[in-house]
Amino acid sequence: MYFSDAHEELRLHIRRFLEKEVRPHLAEWEQTLFPDSIFKRFGEMGLLGLRYDPEYGGQGGDYFSAIVLEEEMARAGCGGLGMAIAVQTEMATPPLNKFGTPEQKRKWLAPAISGDSIAAIAMTEPDAGSDLANIQTIARKDGNEWVINGRKIFITNGARASWTLLVTKGDRERGHKGYNLILVEKTSPGFSVTRTLEKLGMHSSDTAELLFEDCRVPLDNLIGEEGEGFKQLMWELQGERLIAACGAVAGAQKTFEYAMDYAKERRAFGKPIAEHQVIKHKLVDMATKVNMIRAFVYECATRWDQGDYPVREISQAKLMATQIAVEVADDAIQILGGHGYMREFPVEKAWRDARLARIGAGTDEIMKEIIAKTYGL
Ligand SMILES: Cc1cc2nc3c(=O)[nH]c(=O)nc-3n(C[C@H](O)[C@H](O)[C@H](O)COP(=O)(O)OP(=O)(O)OC[C@H]3O[C@@H](n4cnc5c(N)ncnc54)[C@H](O)[C@@H]3O)c2cc1C
Repeated sequence: MYFSDAHEELRLHIRRFLEKEVRPHLAEWEQTLFPDSIFKRFGEMGLLGLRYDPEYGGQGGDYFSAIVLEEEMARAGCGGLGMAIAVQTEMATPPLNKFGTPEQKRKWLAPAISGDSIAAIAMTEPDAGSDLANIQTIARKDGNEWVINGRKIFITNGARASWTLLVTKGDRERGHKGYNLILVEKTSPGFSVTRTLEKLGMHSSDTAELLFEDCRVPLDNLIGEEGEGFKQLMWELQGERLIAACGAVAGAQKTFEYAMDYAKERRAFGKPIAEHQVIKHKLVDMATKVNMIRAFVYECATRWDQGDYPVREISQAKLMATQIAVEVADDAIQILGGHGYMREFPVEKAWRDARLARIGAGTDEIMKEIIAKTYGL
């Protein structure tokens, strides 16, 4: 219903590339982080601008092209690399593509599509994550420059990014009208990466803390209209949540299939464990939840692709898909028993990687707050 022949061709193209050039290195990259050069390869394969205008090097595809990439990354077990690529294609560059000027797009979007530059988006701060209205990173104008002071934390690609799309506030309180999205290049004076952080999962990606100390960038680095940053960020977050939901469903599907194959082989009390009704029914529950949430996520994606803005449904999809992904991974660990807890089997990594999505891009609780508001609660 959702995927054309062209999508399926794209799927094969991505699958072959990941099998040959990515999968053989994934275990090593869990220890060492993946190399920056992989962005260039994704760019050369045409995978960093699937939905973007060919004028800037994109492929001009629809939202389901992005879903194909997300699904194949999850199927290959890319984890942190999948997240880093999604930050580039579905989080940091969409506001530049939607709100940027043609000149800004030539300067920053085109190299991000070719893989010559790496992008990050920085909203979270040490004292403001869910409560984004409370950020304290201030950008004030001085002559023809912005002067930025503040700190950002948990920033994916933050240490390696060529540029970061930064969420800032003005120095005069103007409510939601006081926010600006400002693009900060790595070489900007006053910008530094203060540390990289160790985390539970997504080990191949870097997560950084960034410092802006009288950091100066040209006024021209403002993306979109001045004072409209909060509104633009809310739009960006819908895309971020939707792609997180797509990735969660694809990851859950792969984990379910792995657990099912294992249960058909593993024997206990004289028969495969899949023939014990408790295990069989657990597998059925896993598959049923994944199929149901996939249908809902695809429905939301169709609406988003058509230019609709279904905040309630996207929040519901993100909430439920990411919870299901964690439940399925947890069930898979149980089905594999002791093997499930071991690093040499993929389900413990699936659980660790999936767990992030219930926090990143807005926590479960924040999704519920948003959904509640849409019902007038
Ligand atoms: C690996 C990783 C990568 C990340 N990548 C990025 C990135 O690239 N860019 C970026 O900007 N951010 C990134 N984040 C940050 C992420 O988006 C935040 O961690 C998330 O939004 C939650 O914010 P917080 O951690 O400050 O939690 P807090 O806001 O401190 O929340 C703590 C707890 O309180 C709950 N809570 C807060 N408010 C309410 C409320 N009103 N009602 C009920 N419960 C509430 C939350 O749900 C949560 O359970 C990343 C995080 C991680 C872990």
